[in-house]
This record gives sequence, structure tokens and C-alpha cells, in this order.
Amino acid sequence: MQLAGKVALVTGAASGIGKRIAEEYARNGAAVVIADLNIEGASAAAKEIGEGGGKAIGVAMDVTDEAAVDGGVAEAVGKFGRVDILVSNAGIQIVKPVEEFSLAEWRKMLAIHLDGAFLTTRACLRDMYARGEGGAIIYMGSVHSHLASKLKAPYCTAKHGLLGLARVVAKEGGPKGVRANVICPGFVRTPLVEKQIPEQAKTFGISEDEVVRTIMLKDTVDTEFTTVDDVAHLALFLAAFESNALTGQSITVSHGWHMQ
Ligand code: NAD
Repeated sequence: MQLAGKVALVTGAASGIGKRIAEEYARNGAAVVIADLNIEGASAAAKEIGEGGGKAIGVAMDVTDEAAVDGGVAEAVGKFGRVDILVSNAGIQIVKPVEEFSLAEWRKMLAIHLDGAFLTTRACLRDMYARGEGGAIIYMGSVHSHLASKLKAPYCTAKHGLLGLARVVAKEGGPKGVRANVICPGFVRTPLVEKQIPEQAKTFGISEDEVVRTIMLKDTVDTEFTTVDDVAHLALFLAAFESNALTGQSITVSHGWHMQ
């Protein structure tokens, strides 16, 4: 019960990594706001948590939409009174060579990953600062916050950008007790990654098994995928950490693919 009495808002929590973080937070006593574009998925995830004895609500939120973010955070505060923890996690992936990206695709990627992180941070910081009790902000970066891979120009650009945002929020928020950190996972078998396997097989002219072995897991220490549990445990650790001693950092959870 490391998060008893806390309220956490997790974006993109109808699926994958965010869903598992929401479950882990609820299991540790937090009231959780599952904010997602997919409101049916968000409501279903909240219902599951409720059936397991936890406290959660689903909130419709497009993280690229200023009014939707401000409205969703207001709804969260209206329901649970506060937001202590933000996990800015919503994300998508589009893979193709730089010269084939349309400007619209590029902008969509940066809007979800960077505008979304900014807008949710701003809305939650306003609540945290007004209450004066601090908080924790966690960004879902990636190994691609530190490394590059072919076909992932906007993704790598956005994930690198989150490091800068987290460091500024750590500096500005520090005196007010708000910590900001970035989680950098390796490949996790969520819908986001399942979609990439056939796409990369086609682009590189190799089998799906080769994509997994020779691209995705090539540099891990044990040819293993990172799991949603691995990421959720780190997200719990960061949310529960009690002082500014751990802020402005990025922590990689990737089976040794990237060692900082
Ligand atoms: P996922 O596809 O399982 O879940 C992503 C969720 O984000 C979905 O529920 C989707 O509806 C939601 N979403 C998409 N656009 C949104 C928007 N505009 N507003 C609100 N919600 C939106 O993906 P995942 O693998 O769980 O990814 C979650 C995060 O983890 C992403 O930021 C991703 O970049 C990051 N990440 C994933 C991996 C991986 O290997 N899966 C590795 C490193 C980082």
C-alpha cells in the first residue's frame, strides 16, 4: 500500500503499459484516473480495478487537445479531490524512412508524445502547486530517448525531447516538492509493438521471427522482452519515492539493451 491516499492520473491506460501501471497503482492504494482516447477501454479497465477492490474511473481524453486535457484533469480533481501522480504514457508508433514521412504524420507523432506530455504536465502541476503538497510526474520515454533506430525519426525525436521536459519540470518543481522522471523501456509486447513486427518484416524483407531476434532483442543481455510488470514496478518505485533526491532522471528498463 505504498500509494495509500494518493490520486494518480495515467494517460493511455486503456491498454498495454499504462493499463498495467494503473492496476499496480490501484493495488497499492491509489485512486486511479484512466485517461485515454479509447473511453470504452478506459471504462473497462476502471471497472476491472473496481471489481478487484480498487478505486478507478475512466476519463475520455485526447492528450493532444488542450480543452480535453484540462477538462479531464478537472474531472479527476472533481472526483478524487487532487492529482498527486501523473504518468504521461499515451503514445503511438509510426515506422517508415524519413523521406516517406508526411508532415501530418510527423506532427501527429510529436503532438501525441510531446504536446500530450506538456498539456498533462501543465494541468497537473497547476493542481499540485495550488495544493502545495508536491507530487510525482513520470514520463514514458523509451530506450529511444537515448538511442536511435532506423524508421523511427519522429518517435526518437519525441522520446529524446521528453528528457528535456522532465529536467525542466524537475528544476521548476523541485522547490515545490514535485519530482519528474522518465522511464525508458526496451521492447514490451503490447499492441504498439505487435503492430511493428509485420511492418518491419515487410520493410526489411525478413521474417517476423528475425525482426524479433535480429532487431528488437539483438542487444539485450538475454534475448528477452521487457514486460508490462517490469515497467509497472519501476513506475511504482518512482511514484512512491519520497524526496527530491531522485528527480530529473531517466531510468532504463530494457534487459541491458541500453546501459546508461
Ligand atoms: P498501447 O498501444 O498498448 O497503448 C497506448 C494507449 O495510448 C492506447 O490505449 C491508446 O488508446 C492511447 N492513446 C493513443 N493516442 C492517444 C491520445 N491522443 N490521447 C490519449 N490516449 C491515446 O502501447 P504501449 O506499448 O502500452 O505504449 C505506452 C507508452 O509506452 C507509449 O508512450 C510508448 O511509446 C511507450 N513505450 C512502449 C514500448 C513498447 O515496447 N511497447 C517501449 C518503450 C516505450
